[in-house]
Amino acid sequence: MFSLRTLPCPNCNEIINDSMSTCKYCSTPLDQFTLRAAADMQEKVNSACNEASNIRNYAGAMWVLFLVRLIPLGFIALGGLIGMLGMFLIVPVRLVIWLIRYGAIKTGDADFRKARYNIGVAALLWLPAAVLLALNVLALIGMGLK
Ligand SMILES: [Zn+2]
Repeated sequence: MFSLRTLPCPNCNEIINDSMSTCKYCSTPLDQFTLRAAADMQEKVNSACNEASNIRNYAGAMWVLFLVRLIPLGFIALGGLIGMLGMFLIVPVRLVIWLIRYGAIKTGDADFRKARYNIGVAALLWLPAAVLLALNVLALIGMGLK
């Protein structure tokens, strides 16, 4: 079965599908090449949006786990610590991969603007954790020097 893919018109940005030969909103002729490029772009934008909200969720989970770590029960605190460190390492890697894959996308798509926003939020959530870790490492080094 062949399923229709929806995509924004390359000319007017209204949502159309790839069975049309002209845009029903602005009458721009749509050849197969243009349609395929626009549909591929739309899929890329969709996965950029999904991945961006995943990364933001990881960054949020990192702080939840940071609090879990404070629960005074050995195994729960240890789970929180391991989980937090895992998220701490995963978030920047996924951020860099996202920027390489999707950073150059130019689209007026509202979802993509939200994706960029989510990426910014993830980076802002991650940075203080990095500072905190750096301070801890410095404190440990300081203690070692005494
Ligand atoms: Zn159009």
